[in-house]
Amino acid sequence: MVWHQGLGDWQTHGSLTGVSEPAKVPSLSESISVTRTQDIRREGSVLVMAKGAQLPHRCVKCNKPAEGEPWTKKLSYNHPAIYLLLLINILVLLVVAALTSKKATVDVPVCEFHRAKVKGAIKLSWALCLSAIVLIVCAIGMESGGLGLFGFVTLLVGIFVGIGRGRLVYASKIDQDHLWMKGVCPEYLDELSR
Ligand SMILES: [Zn+2]
Repeated sequence: MVWHQGLGDWQTHGSLTGVSEPAKVPSLSESISVTRTQDIRREGSVLVMAKGAQLPHRCVKCNKPAEGEPWTKKLSYNHPAIYLLLLINILVLLVVAALTSKKATVDVPVCEFHRAKVKGAIKLSWALCLSAIVLIVCAIGMESGGLGLFGFVTLLVGIFVGIGRGRLVYASKIDQDHLWMKGVCPEYLDELSR
């Protein structure tokens, strides 16, 4: 039996109408299902999303709750065949790539640990590449083959660090409306496929 102000007499609980239930807090899977209606899905190891859709507020690298503002990333994609132009001329490749690349901007949720880790890798990559240029210039001035080789290896390591560690996420395809995004951890993708 229950009674509260406004009721004339004690009534059984099931007969009550108009008594408000406590507000229900949406679970993570419910909030993701709301997001899914904005078109975010998983295709194997790739996250496919409509351009402009908002990603669930979990770190894409570890699936823990994201911290701070999402990291706005400008992603671009070129068809792999375009790199055959490298056989002709790197300048031709760069011009055609600039003219034909498809672009998308996405707000990527991330935790502080992974934000710092990726930023550190970007800085290391730049430091290695700039050092490599100095080494190569010095090698040319000193006509030193050994120093030139060392500069070239440093450049390769710098590029490797930038591509391997310095990318939070990257596009494996972009079309008019959608973005195919790689670099997202399996746990985050698992949540989307539930
Ligand atoms: Zn994280």
